[in-house]
Amino acid sequence: MTALKQYSFWLIVGSQDLYGPETLQTVDEHAQIIVDGLNADSAIPCTLVFKPVVRNSSEIFSTIQAANQDPSCAGIITWMHTFSPSKMWIRGLKALQKPLLHINTQFDREIPWQTIDMNYMNLNQSAHGDREHGFILARMRLPQKALAGYWQDIKFRSRMATWMRAAVGAFESRQLRVLRISDNMREVAVTEGDKVEAHMQFGWSVDHYGVQDIIKLVDQVTEAEIDAQMAEYSAHYELATDNLEAVRYQAQEEVALKKFLEDGKFGAFHTNFQDLQGLKQLPGLASQDLMRLGYGFGGEGDWKTAAMVRILKLMSADLAGGTSFMEDYVYHMEEGNGLNMGAHMLEICPSIASEKAQIKVMPLGIGDREPPARLTFKTATGPAILASLIDMGDRFRLIVNEVDCRKQEYDMPNLPVAVVLWKPLPDLETSAEAWMYAGGAHHSALSYTVTADMMRDWAEIMGIEFIHIGAHTKIPELRQELIWNDIVWKHK
Ligand code: MN
Repeated sequence: MTALKQYSFWLIVGSQDLYGPETLQTVDEHAQIIVDGLNADSAIPCTLVFKPVVRNSSEIFSTIQAANQDPSCAGIITWMHTFSPSKMWIRGLKALQKPLLHINTQFDREIPWQTIDMNYMNLNQSAHGDREHGFILARMRLPQKALAGYWQDIKFRSRMATWMRAAVGAFESRQLRVLRISDNMREVAVTEGDKVEAHMQFGWSVDHYGVQDIIKLVDQVTEAEIDAQMAEYSAHYELATDNLEAVRYQAQEEVALKKFLEDGKFGAFHTNFQDLQGLKQLPGLASQDLMRLGYGFGGEGDWKTAAMVRILKLMSADLAGGTSFMEDYVYHMEEGNGLNMGAHMLEICPSIASEKAQIKVMPLGIGDREPPARLTFKTATGPAILASLIDMGDRFRLIVNEVDCRKQEYDMPNLPVAVVLWKPLPDLETSAEAWMYAGGAHHSALSYTVTADMMRDWAEIMGIEFIHIGAHTKIPELRQELIWNDIVWKHK
């Protein structure tokens, strides 16, 4: 079973009593065939669950209430094979607490020209019934996704999969705990934010602990635990240093951090290089290896990006390719080939490596501690996204830029960190201007697996503003969108 099969989605097919039991039985049979067909396709990452056809307001209400209560249900999918008068749906939809995908498909692909009669028309009328359903969803201003197309087509299935991943992101978001080790870096604006609002909007519980709480655990780590962690490192990475003592200290930090994360059921954490107290090294290798295991991470107290790294990792846990904490660092402004080089002082996730990562120990220019062990590696090429969540004071805004990651041609022997070299869409200048007009952070979650469409669906489910920077982006239009959004989102 792949990682995302544990999340279920209920297919709820609407109808009414008017058609008689025979037609309704056929509706159920067709829905079951569609569910089985989708579950058999590896393009669908999650599990579809068949529910008997709903015929009236009380059946709709009780099915939706049951979906709300089911701890593995990550969303509902509605479809009107026949006609289902939508006033019957109001009570149930008002109670709905899960994400909603409305599919507009048909059991048969083509019209049977020779045999079609009124019985066929009564059964196969989603062109009619789904429009009635679309009206009530629009009238109630519900967060939703409309998906039209033939259910056996690859494009339809891949768009369904995209929405499912977003719903998984929402599901995990609503139970995410973020561990703050210390506060955020002094004087920095973009890593601030309203944690109460984040709890209400995203479900994140964001709690602070003192560095001393971690140090207590670091001091309790045994030599045997460090040995076991070192064996883990050897299994995944190449040791490219003689300074074993420094590597063992990172192992000690990782064992302690992992205990703290597991005990508190945290999915993400941040550090702050300005506040290390008795820690001898900034956790570098330790943070990188914890990201590989699926934890979200943010530097300098960035709890919002730490949470996003975690959510993006879970949305795409079954896909090849990685997700990492990222920071825009240095431009390559060659004419016609503008690139952005992203990195961080240490903490890039080895899930985005294109080669076996090496453990090295080098001094850190910032801070006043011992040279930390870290992983260095070259990174994967191809399409990726950068996602940045910011707090605008009255709302959260998610900014996503599509980028194309390029091959790293030079070794950069004096640079002791992993980097990603990307060409942002539509081009470096437009992307940078758009990102800054939108207020995007210098920190982001970079993902080779999550797409802009997934993030758009996730933003819709979470009820937040979404700004998409890509091949289509033009600065005058983007600035208009930002001005309009300021009005629209103030009235939410
Ligand atoms: Mn940073």
